[in-house]
Amino acid sequence: MPSVAPILCDLDGVIWLMHQPIAGSVNAIESLRTAGHRVLFVTNNSFSLVADQENALAKIGIQAHGDVVTSSQAAGALLHKGERVLVGAGPGAVEAVRNAGAILAGRSDEHHRDSTANAMGSDSNQSIDVVMVGYHATFDYRGLTMLSAAVRNGALLIATNDDATYPTPHGLIPGGGSIVAAVSVASGVQPIIAGKPHKPMADLVRQVLGTNDLSNAWMVGDRPSTDGLFAQTVGCKFAQVLTGISSEGDRGDALHEDSHVFADLATFAKMIAGS
Ligand SMILES: [Mg+2]
Repeated sequence: MPSVAPILCDLDGVIWLMHQPIAGSVNAIESLRTAGHRVLFVTNNSFSLVADQENALAKIGIQAHGDVVTSSQAAGALLHKGERVLVGAGPGAVEAVRNAGAILAGRSDEHHRDSTANAMGSDSNQSIDVVMVGYHATFDYRGLTMLSAAVRNGALLIATNDDATYPTPHGLIPGGGSIVAAVSVASGVQPIIAGKPHKPMADLVRQVLGTNDLSNAWMVGDRPSTDGLFAQTVGCKFAQVLTGISSEGDRGDALHEDSHVFADLATFAKMIAGS
């Protein structure tokens, strides 16, 4: 067990809102690191490439190379070398498929990105081992048909995450979980879910940190229904911050017995790192 508690930190609603840094968050990360804490950014954002997320953090003054784990990576960890994967998700999921040594058999939104591409016929669905689903704004009926047909033909259904919504300045938009729900209903199969608050993400965090005992660690997040439950899955403490979109009826302390509320990340860091 590491002597200095690792900090698992959510991004949206804790570090930034739509990439606009939340007051004090950048300095808070610095003071935590100065005090010797390893900070791991744990996000359900499955769409963006890992490097893009690291670069976005660098842009606001947080060096995070090797310190970002995503729900796409957690989904990728469930794949086996050589498996043929049909992706109904963003570039982050495609990246995870390739990093796992699996084969990108196709994308269900190919017809949106390449007008010359022919969507795969139902025959080729026979050879799909895994269907990976996550947020993508190009989701449509044609894609839903391809994805659900492959699952009906026996492919394993893996969801990067099951977040029903995603907060934007213009209100909530459908998240990856809403798309997964459509594929699940259309195929009659329940997905294996990789991201927070589920076990594959917890396994990935343990692997990255190189420890199974995270009882002294903290998960800092704005959503008790994902971050709080994830703390429970990991077996660590939960620090809820109030800088996210919390007006959606997300339940608080009731979900996690070792749950503590802080105004923001800066207040949390002051308590933990004493600066
Ligand atoms: Mg959040």
